[in-house]
Amino acid sequence: MAAVLKIGGIPIKKGERKKIQLSVSNLYDGTDLSIPVEVIRGKEDGPILFISGAIHGDEINGTEIISRILKQRSLKRMKGTLIAVPVVNVFGFNMLSRYLPDRRDLNRSFPGTENGSLASRVAQIFMKEIVKNCTHGIDLHTGAVHRNNLPQIRADMSHTETKQLAFEFGVPVVLNSSIRDGSLREAARRKNIPMLLFEGGEALRFDEKVIQIGLQGCLSVMRSIGMLSKKKLAERREVFIAWSSHWLRSPVSGLFRKLKEVGAHIKEGEKLGQITDQFGKSLGDIISPYEGIIVGELKLPLVNGGDALYHIASFHNTRKVQKTIKQIEEEIFQSFYD
Ligand SMILES: [Zn+2]
Repeated sequence: MAAVLKIGGIPIKKGERKKIQLSVSNLYDGTDLSIPVEVIRGKEDGPILFISGAIHGDEINGTEIISRILKQRSLKRMKGTLIAVPVVNVFGFNMLSRYLPDRRDLNRSFPGTENGSLASRVAQIFMKEIVKNCTHGIDLHTGAVHRNNLPQIRADMSHTETKQLAFEFGVPVVLNSSIRDGSLREAARRKNIPMLLFEGGEALRFDEKVIQIGLQGCLSVMRSIGMLSKKKLAERREVFIAWSSHWLRSPVSGLFRKLKEVGAHIKEGEKLGQITDQFGKSLGDIISPYEGIIVGELKLPLVNGGDALYHIASFHNTRKVQKTIKQIEEEIFQSFYD
């Protein structure tokens, strides 16, 4: 690692903490639009970790997780470098939108090009100024608008170092998701940078439980790779990898009456909800075709035929997964009263 790290042309020396504005574009009226970045360099060399939020501009739990990481006193004794990017999609963030103004999805636009679409240009700047400088990464997401996700890690578990990070993050549910074309995860993988994607909660909301779990997960990864002191390393929680996951869709249009929430253990043949018309007449029950854990749910009761209602993940030991989820929730609940 060079003695001087440069981001957006700004040098950051060992032991320095700096806020940088990465210029990306202008608004219609010429107002500068830039990605805010905070860089913290320890006095000693070590890993270089980026933590990013709001790549989908309306997914703001990650923004809050990052702001809480930045308040940790332990950062004063940190080894290596933390590059914190609480809002990557600054356009979407300001418009309360997942997308860029051209309706493109930034997380399908990586690695991007200098002369491509607006999304592609933002992706290219993020790769060049942030990812290229890093040895590890964590990207923070939530469910899309009207969708709530159980806190979970999505990672390429065929990559040894990534798998190790996923276990260290300590969230019980890990989805071994195949990498999607154009995602930041795919671009990082191509550069052989181990990267996790954390999902939890829903768009445009702060979810305290999810924020706590995400915060603890990020700090745990920082301890495990030697950035933070391992003195306080808690006993590692058990982590379960889903062997498959499926969306359960509404057969018809109507009003969705939900009977189950994220985190619930469901059995094969169990009734999960009902679709009715506006008079309350049943149009059909929603029956689970398999056993599993609900890892994602639709919050909006108005549905069209084909809309995804529940995301269900299957595990070898579903009961144990649910028990671990409950334990974590209780620990968090307890910590509010300590
Ligand atoms: Zn997202």
